[in-house]
Amino acid sequence: MYILHNDNETTDIYFLTPEQGFYKLEYRKGEAATFFKQIFERLEPLAASQLVIDNNFYDDLPEEMWNGDEITRSLSESGKKLDRMNLLPAPFPLEEYLTPRDLRHLKKLYGLGGLSYGNLSARRDSESFWMSASGINKADMKTVGEDFLLISGYDPDKNAMKVSVPPNITPKRASVDAIEHWMIYKEHPEVGAIVHVHAWMDGIKATEINYPCGTIELAKTVAELVRISKEPSKAIIGLKNHGLTITGADLDDIFERIEGKIIPQVPMS
Ligand SMILES: [Zn+2]
Repeated sequence: MYILHNDNETTDIYFLTPEQGFYKLEYRKGEAATFFKQIFERLEPLAASQLVIDNNFYDDLPEEMWNGDEITRSLSESGKKLDRMNLLPAPFPLEEYLTPRDLRHLKKLYGLGGLSYGNLSARRDSESFWMSASGINKADMKTVGEDFLLISGYDPDKNAMKVSVPPNITPKRASVDAIEHWMIYKEHPEVGAIVHVHAWMDGIKATEINYPCGTIELAKTVAELVRISKEPSKAIIGLKNHGLTITGADLDDIFERIEGKIIPQVPMS
């Protein structure tokens, strides 16, 4: 939060979001109670939300899937397509600030393959789906267990996603949005693919609170909006101050419906 004292009468507070945007609240002298109430209302749901970012890995992936399948190949193609559509912006232009050597060091330190926003997944069967892993370059997805993960369930007791991987691999972590995708696939058998990008479209329904990525609250709110949409398998849901979650019968169906309609900058309020 950046605080800007304009003069003795007014102060602006800017809330910066990880999606390269911001929104602001204005303070006027003598209105402290309303002002702090507004700040509380903005922050409380975010601070109280619960992250589901734990992963339980099982090296039980059937051997015929170790090198991927038709679905991982279509995910790989779609990742390239998102890149061509300029929909995988890095959260911050690090390469403009770091030397190539420092950037390599940073990537190694945090196990990052590339920095790109967004994620995509496609159903494998009624119980599982393939999804892009966290912190990878989605324009260049190749390896099962590293770039693609088979998400095979959610364990409410451990509050963790179940991930099936090949043996002898150090798996990458699942995307923080795996819980949201899992909820949607579970509830809607006709949904075959989901794409999440940090961009916008006109005339869509959107969440009212900007819950952080990877929280149960965001997952539930998006799942709810998918549920009440006319066709849950063709839903385009806005995530306030953040981006879009789009469902489809398959990945091609999603791209056909969004091409030419995407607005790069997410509106902030
Ligand atoms: Zn996101």
